[in-house]
Amino acid sequence: MKKKSAAGRLSDNGTEATPAQTPGQWGRAWTADFLTMAGVLFILTCCPVLVFYFLISCTHYQCELTTPAIKLYTGDVTVTQLWGYVPSLTLKAMVVYLSWFTFQVFLWYLPDVCHYIIPGYRGGVCLGAITPAGNRLKYGVNGLQAWIISNGLFLANAVHFRWFSPTIIVDNYGPLLVMMNIMGYSVSVFVTVKAYLFPSFAEDRKFSGNPFYDFLMGIEFNPRIGKWFDFKLFFNGRPGIVCWSVINMSYAWKQYELYGYVTNSMILVNVLQAIYIVDFFWNEAWYLNTIDMHHDHFGFMLGWGDSVWLPTMYTLQGFFLVFHPVQLSQAAAAGILALGLGGYYIFRAVNHQKDSFRRTDGQANVWGRKPEYMEVEYFSSDGKKRRSKLLLSGWWGIARHMNYTGDLMGSLAYCLCGGVTHLLPYFYIIFMTILLVHRCLRDEHRCKAKYGSSWDDYTSRVPYRLIPMLF
Ligand code: NDP
Repeated sequence: MKKKSAAGRLSDNGTEATPAQTPGQWGRAWTADFLTMAGVLFILTCCPVLVFYFLISCTHYQCELTTPAIKLYTGDVTVTQLWGYVPSLTLKAMVVYLSWFTFQVFLWYLPDVCHYIIPGYRGGVCLGAITPAGNRLKYGVNGLQAWIISNGLFLANAVHFRWFSPTIIVDNYGPLLVMMNIMGYSVSVFVTVKAYLFPSFAEDRKFSGNPFYDFLMGIEFNPRIGKWFDFKLFFNGRPGIVCWSVINMSYAWKQYELYGYVTNSMILVNVLQAIYIVDFFWNEAWYLNTIDMHHDHFGFMLGWGDSVWLPTMYTLQGFFLVFHPVQLSQAAAAGILALGLGGYYIFRAVNHQKDSFRRTDGQANVWGRKPEYMEVEYFSSDGKKRRSKLLLSGWWGIARHMNYTGDLMGSLAYCLCGGVTHLLPYFYIIFMTILLVHRCLRDEHRCKAKYGSSWDDYTSRVPYRLIPMLF
């Protein structure tokens, strides 16, 4: 059943539905008020400290997350002493990191073969979403190929060739973390300068008037070098997500080297996260329509986040298990596997439903029936009125972001692999809850700005965000 609620028409609940009158308001929309600025300064100063704090708590305090802070508070340790634990950069870490990075750039430019040989896989040249200024960019999607080659080579090296030690990452973790930070800061500064001096798409830039906010949130929407090197897609996928599963494998090897066995918890972390990672690359063309690509500008948050936060904080469970090998009971392992797979199923099904709905312009069946949806309108920043559809049935009729709910279930499953003795492995679920709830609110703020009163109409039809009857 189709509910029309476009501008100038009456929706069937009697309210006049109009798109937001400010053009192009679905990009980076918020201005830097006092609270936002406090958050910006907190992220810029605390996040880099936090990644080193986690490292030090494992290398010097048995992964007890609160101990360094308590000791600092009680005066048992000084800031200078803690600072002394921060690793120095080594030539080996530089060589390892830069070789990895260069190799990923090389893979980026390799034409995609996977979409010719793997049935059902969408790769090769794909179109992104329409940007706030009305541009539609082409992307060379070949992340699955890069993942297979990178992870395949790592495995082949580990079990056969031994060009380098499979524990190379965990053995050089500290200096590599320094190197990741150098990359994260360099790319963030570079794209900020680039945005002023040689932007890729000048009309898609957004300035808040506050340089700290702009540095964090990014100015350019799609910074590129040349026609094909896209910062957003590259940094999220390659130093970030391709590396994720390689790092996990390195942890498993280290566990084996240290104890002579690999725990079932380590296997679960590797398997569950690998499913999520492969899913990401299998659906990389879909990723072009997620908030990261469709709304977020590229600054410190994505540049540093993809280079440092993602490869370190998303792999914390494996890191923890190197220091504290947890062997789960069969029942616990089965329960965690069921939670992880259940979460993944929901996450994938919800995303798939929206993707096929949007791709077929509302023609694809949802749960075996014609979908129920609302037609909505908005203005792009060139002042043109455009149309879109909001799905009201299937998962999207249960809550407005069931994909986040599935993601959170999967995240909890990874954390449970760390057992119940320490807080550290649970940082990921705490972080993901904050990230996704904040993302949900950010997204709704933008959607309201984009669709105007049609969005209110939509939220009254689907009143819950993540958990029906609760939130
Ligand atoms: P969504 O895929 O939920 O996309 C939100 C957008 O979808 C909205 O901005 C709107 O965009 C459109 N939309 C909203 N409601 C409807 C509807 N009823 N029907 C059709 N379209 C609708 O969010 P994300 O892009 O944030 O997330 C994608 C996935 O990535 C999620 O599963 C999330 O869990 C995951 N993720 C994982 C992260 C991680 O670090 N592990 C981080 C972030 C995301 P439009 O303007 O097109 O209308």
